[in-house]
Amino acid sequence: MTYQPTLEFAQKLDQDDPLRDYRNRFYIPETADGQPSIYLCGNSLGLQPRTVEAYVQQELEDWAKLGVEGHFRARRPWMPYHELLTPAAARLVGALPEEVVVMNSLTVNLHLMMVSFYRPVPGRYKIVMEANGFPSDQYAVKSQLQYHGFAPDEALLEFPLRENEVLHRTEDMVQFLEEHGAEIALVLLGGVNYYTGQAFDIPAIAEAARRRGCMIGLDLAHAAGNLPLQLHDWQIDFAVWCSYKYLNSGPGGIAGCFVHQRHLQERENPRFAGWWGQNKQTRFLMGPEFDPIPTAEGWQLSNPPILLLAALRASLDIFDEAGMDRLRQKSVKLTGYLEHLIRRVGPDKVQIITPGHPEARGCQLSLVIGDEGRRVFEQLTERGVICDWREPDVIRIAPVPLYNSFEDVYHFARILGELVQGAP
Ligand SMILES: *Cc1c(COP(=O)(O)O)cnc(C)c1O
Repeated sequence: MTYQPTLEFAQKLDQDDPLRDYRNRFYIPETADGQPSIYLCGNSLGLQPRTVEAYVQQELEDWAKLGVEGHFRARRPWMPYHELLTPAAARLVGALPEEVVVMNSLTVNLHLMMVSFYRPVPGRYKIVMEANGFPSDQYAVKSQLQYHGFAPDEALLEFPLRENEVLHRTEDMVQFLEEHGAEIALVLLGGVNYYTGQAFDIPAIAEAARRRGCMIGLDLAHAAGNLPLQLHDWQIDFAVWCSYKYLNSGPGGIAGCFVHQRHLQERENPRFAGWWGQNKQTRFLMGPEFDPIPTAEGWQLSNPPILLLAALRASLDIFDEAGMDRLRQKSVKLTGYLEHLIRRVGPDKVQIITPGHPEARGCQLSLVIGDEGRRVFEQLTERGVICDWREPDVIRIAPVPLYNSFEDVYHFARILGELVQGAP
């Protein structure tokens, strides 16, 4: 497609966009003077679907009317409420329904998964992660290593980057696993790196990990709802994701967790248990023996927060309707247009560190504007653009296909151009 840098062209793309009406299903935050902002921060917190209120309100009403009886008599009984989200969540990540459960928050799920699937043995106890990974994941991994008695300095590896490069090369990652795989117990990778926006070639890396006998787990915080995923077919061992970014479930929303089918019947791995993971037939007999549900639900600890589930359900219903494939098609175009316009601003002024190939990224582009980065970011904010800043020097821009328009992207690039030229 040949893009043109004009408002008319952007508006034409919006008119031709089969998903354009989805924007109206969301609240778009306003600037101080009451104009819709240019919201390009769905990678950090997705916007609120207008339907969330009704979904949550229904549970508040049933709680008011029924009290504890809502567990069985609510219009959507709370006892099995989380099951309502499973099919849509499974479709989103390419999993069988039994492989997926919605529960807790991302980091909690990451710990629960490492308890079961980080199984160090003498000679094979290391964990390898991407360079520049999300600091919280590093804290989680280091604390797991320490818990097992290993020194993070020695037991935590990073896939090496080539000199002066910020992106990983698949062939280097595969090569690294070929060389060091025998001592690696777990490969833990972001689906999309939060900083650079790089989407990894997960099937290739998963295959290399498997060949060398390593477990592979994924943090899909920036991939779920952003890229089509095939966790089952890729034979990923486990994955976790939060839902408040691309999945629009609201601040602190409830997270997702995937356990591959081949692990569901295993009883030899340890796991941290709680009553909600207990066989549903015997859960309320309150017996002393833990008999886990033979699905991903067997990792649940507590009875889940229904109000959070209701908010996420509103959003997943929209995803199901729009369809991840159509969203991805639009996303490739939208981000491609953003890239085209930013390049016109001038590569000497704005550097895009995210890969140029659509297969190697989701919707986010990460921009480096040298010494001026912080100033430009602050002025973008003053001009009604909502995006985010990541230390030390990156502005992250994420046009989200559900609610961003080509016109949003056009105006963003126009304002960016003005700011980096230093003109008003
Ligand atoms: C956003 C994000 C998290 C957030 O973790 P929470 O437990 O939901 O606070 C974790 N990892 C990555 C890579 C993220 O981008």
